[in-house]
Amino acid sequence: MIEKAVIKKIKEIIPSAGVLVGDEEKICYSYDASIKEALPDIIVKADTADEISSVIKIASEHNIPIIPRGAGTGFAGGTVPVRGGIVISVAGMNKIIEIDRKNLMAVVEPGVITGTLQKEVESLGLFYPPDPSSLDISTIGGNVATCAGGPRGVKYGVTKDYVMGLDAILPDGSLLSTGGKNIKSVAGYNLTSLMVGSEGTLALINKIILKLLPLPETTSTLFVSFKSISGATKSINDILLSGTTPSTIEFMDRFTIEIIRDHIDIEIGKDIGATLLIELDGDVEEVRRGTDKVKDILLRGGATDIVTAKDEIERKHLWDARRGISPTLRKLKPTKLNQDIAVPRASLPEMIDQLHSIAEKYNILIVNFGHAGDGNIHVNVMTDSSNIEEMGRATKAVDEIFRQTIELGGTISGEHGIGISKKDYLEMEVGKAGISVMRKIKGAIDPKNIMNPGKVLPDL
Ligand SMILES: Cc1cc2nc3c(=O)[nH]c(=O)nc-3n(C[C@H](O)[C@H](O)[C@H](O)COP(=O)(O)OP(=O)(O)OC[C@H]3O[C@@H](n4cnc5c(N)ncnc54)[C@H](O)[C@@H]3O)c2cc1C
Repeated sequence: MIEKAVIKKIKEIIPSAGVLVGDEEKICYSYDASIKEALPDIIVKADTADEISSVIKIASEHNIPIIPRGAGTGFAGGTVPVRGGIVISVAGMNKIIEIDRKNLMAVVEPGVITGTLQKEVESLGLFYPPDPSSLDISTIGGNVATCAGGPRGVKYGVTKDYVMGLDAILPDGSLLSTGGKNIKSVAGYNLTSLMVGSEGTLALINKIILKLLPLPETTSTLFVSFKSISGATKSINDILLSGTTPSTIEFMDRFTIEIIRDHIDIEIGKDIGATLLIELDGDVEEVRRGTDKVKDILLRGGATDIVTAKDEIERKHLWDARRGISPTLRKLKPTKLNQDIAVPRASLPEMIDQLHSIAEKYNILIVNFGHAGDGNIHVNVMTDSSNIEEMGRATKAVDEIFRQTIELGGTISGEHGIGISKKDYLEMEVGKAGISVMRKIKGAIDPKNIMNPGKVLPDL
C-alpha cells in the first residue's frame, strides 16, 4: 500500500489524468502476455524524462517498487507488479525524435511502436531490421529492455545489434546517458550493453539511439513443405553453409501447420511434417541468384513443395499467418507455457527429437515453431491451468526441456527474457558465479532494490 501523502506528491508532478488509482485501471496493468498476474498500487503515465525522474526519486525515498512498462506484450511476466508499487507506463512517450539519414541513425522515445518506426524509416529508403512478431504493438523501449529478436535475426541480428546509445533514469532519479552516434567507441565499460536486456531491473530507458541500414531493393518469399522434420532441419544447415544467408528461416512443426492451414490459401498436404518460411533480400540480381540456389538445396533436401509469393499481398498473407500462430494456439488448450529456448544451430535436429520424446514421456501436447535459422525454437507446452494433474506434468516437461537445452549448450531464453517465468532456472545456465556477479551489479546500481524487484534474479 502506498500512503495517500505519497500519491498526493506524485499527483503534484504528473497531471491528474496521468495517475491511475482505480481498481479497474489496476487490473489493466496487472498482466502481460505471460500467465502471471499481480495488481500495482498505482499507475503513472509519464510524458517526459523529468516526470519519470521525479516519480522515481519519490519511490526511492519511500522504498516503493517501480515497474517500467511499454505495451505489456512480454512473455516472461516482466511487467507484472509482483511486489505492488508504481507501474510507470511510457507508452505515451512515442515520438520519433530524429531520423538522421547521413549517419544512418534514428533517435526515439521508448513508447514508439516497433512497426511504426519501421514504416517511417522505410518511407525514406531506410531499414530497421529487428522484427519481433509483436511489432504492431510492442514498443522500442520494451524491445530494448528485453533485447527482442525476430525472424530476420538470422541475417541481421537482434535489437542489441542496433542500439548505439540510450538515456535512462537510474533508481536514484539521476539521468544516465550512454553511447552515441559513433560507430566505434571503447570509452569505459559498455553501459549501453548492460542496459539492453536488463528487463527494467536497472533503470528506466527514456531515449534510444538506433542504427539503421539502407532498405534492401527487393525480397523473395518461399513457403516450403517437407514430409519430415529432419529434411527441413538438414536443409537449414545446408543453406547456411552455401554462402547465401536468407534474411529469415522460420520453422513450423505439424501441429503448427494444422493451426495455420485454414488461414492460408496454400494447399498443404495432410502428410506434411514441417514447413519453412524463407526470405531472401538484397538487390534484384543477388536475390534472383540466391533464390535459385536455395530452391535447389531445398529440393535436394527432400522438399515436396515450394511456393513463391507472387507479390506483396501474398507475402503479407503468409506473414499474417505466421505472426498469428502464437495467439491462435489457445484454440488448442487454454494455457500456453511458452518457452523460447535456443540451441547452437547444429543441435537443432537433436533438440527437436528431444522435444518429441518429452511430449511423449509426459503425455502432453508440445507445439514447436520459431526462428530456426538462428536455433531459436518457440516451444509451447499446451495445458489447462485448472487441471492440476495436467499442469503438474506440463511443469515437469518444462523443467526437462530446460535441462536438455542446457545439455546441448543452449540457452533458456533466446529473446523473451527471464522476468519471473524463468528466474528459477537462470542459475542452471549462468552458474553460481554468474548469479553472484549479476547480484553485485544489481546491488551497485539499485541498492534499495526498487527497480522491477522480483524479476530476473532468483529469490534469495
Ligand atoms: C503475439 C506475440 C508475439 C511475440 N513475438 C516476439 C518475437 O518474435 N520476438 C521477441 O523477442 N518477442 C516477442 N514477443 C514478446 C514481446 O513482444 C517482446 O518481449 C517485446 O520486446 C516487449 O515489448 P513491450 O513494449 O510490450 O514491453 P513490456 O511487455 O511492456 O515490457 C517488457 C519488459 O521490459 C521492461 N521495460 C519496458 N519498457 C521499458 C523501458 N522503457 N525501460 C526499462 N524497462 C522497460 C518491462 O519492465 C519488462 O520487464 C511476442 C509477444 C506476443 C504477445
